[in-house]
Amino acid sequence: LGHWDVERIRRDFPVLHQTVNGKPLAYLDNAASSQVPQLVIERGTRYLREEHSNIHRGVHYLSQRATSAYEGAREKVRRFINAREARECIFVRGATEGINLVMHGYGRKFVGPGDEIVISEMEHHANIVPWQMLCEEKGARLRVIPMNDAGELLLDEYEALLNERTKIVAVTHVSNALGTVNPIKEIVRIAHARGIPVLVDGAQAAPHLPIDVQDLDCDFYAISGHKMFGPTGSGVLYGKAELLERMNPFMGGGDMIRSVTFERTIYAGLPNKFEAGTPAIASQIGLGAAIDYLNSIDRAAAYAYEQELLRYATERLSSIEGVRVIGTAREKASVISFTVENVHPHDIGTILDQEGIAIRAGHHCAQPVMQHFKIPATARASFAFYNTKEEVDRLAAAIEKVIEVFN
Ligand code: PMP
Repeated sequence: LGHWDVERIRRDFPVLHQTVNGKPLAYLDNAASSQVPQLVIERGTRYLREEHSNIHRGVHYLSQRATSAYEGAREKVRRFINAREARECIFVRGATEGINLVMHGYGRKFVGPGDEIVISEMEHHANIVPWQMLCEEKGARLRVIPMNDAGELLLDEYEALLNERTKIVAVTHVSNALGTVNPIKEIVRIAHARGIPVLVDGAQAAPHLPIDVQDLDCDFYAISGHKMFGPTGSGVLYGKAELLERMNPFMGGGDMIRSVTFERTIYAGLPNKFEAGTPAIASQIGLGAAIDYLNSIDRAAAYAYEQELLRYATERLSSIEGVRVIGTAREKASVISFTVENVHPHDIGTILDQEGIAIRAGHHCAQPVMQHFKIPATARASFAFYNTKEEVDRLAAAIEKVIEVFN
């Protein structure tokens, strides 16, 4: 196990060093949005101070600098996910937009009446609602891979769901509500054996796991920058070039065309075809800097450290009477969902906030997961590599205090 100098890493994240309600901030809501390192802040500031300009259209100096930074960020993304070509990496605002892009561009073109879309029981609403909209429009049918009570997908049932009407499989790599890491390679292999493309929602995987889209062999992979130490408004939709080329554009407008007359528009090639209008230039350049940051640390050691925090937190929380951990899959990212007997998760969140501890309470945009476990909501602590064992101890102590207050 590589050594992980958490105090040194914490110095890279200025936001962590503040007090909240008189207590040092313990930021345990990384699955919602992670924090940004100084490197990303400086890169964004430099763009705004020295390079701010529109891209692609300009022949002038600033536009060339902005374009080269923006396209440079795309190349960083390509390497980060090991895509074959940079044009397979479409810049979007986040995973939600990436999934909607596939729904519109692929789904509306290739899905018809009686066709089927396969998702899973643990999807975020971002990977449910767009497919439901498509089914409603096309008279298609949504099929759902069930999970067991540990929060693991049932692969035999998955395989049995697939048939000649299945047009796409859309599953999450890591569950935001449970932490489960799904066997994506296996899921892709099973779908591809029947010629069915697979979209992976990678929003929760990118901050933790190495991503290799060629090794996974997935057809689409969606990422949110703000969950992987980048700014909000940044994100990527990876797609295999041959699929993206067959798809319709998601939005029409400037920068996505080769030529326009009132009779006919010819679309631009990849990736421009899917990037209508002025994109979030500053945010995507910031995402490139977040990738630089991730490349500068020992990611394997970071992951091992997060797993240690997860193990420790699971042990601490499970030993508190009245606490129930929701999601006990064998392979988990550092997310721990829990309930406390007789206390609503929102009350847990509020009392923890008074202690300076930031967690998320609610259904986590995954209401079907809550329905599976027959609960309205959970409290969720999610760790990044800058969190500490001491913060886990504070979390456990605060939960004990919650139980005292309510009993
Ligand atoms: N999928 C998963 C698994 C997520 O956790 C989230 C964010 N909570 C999303 C999709 C949506 O991401 P965004 O809000 O950044 O578009």
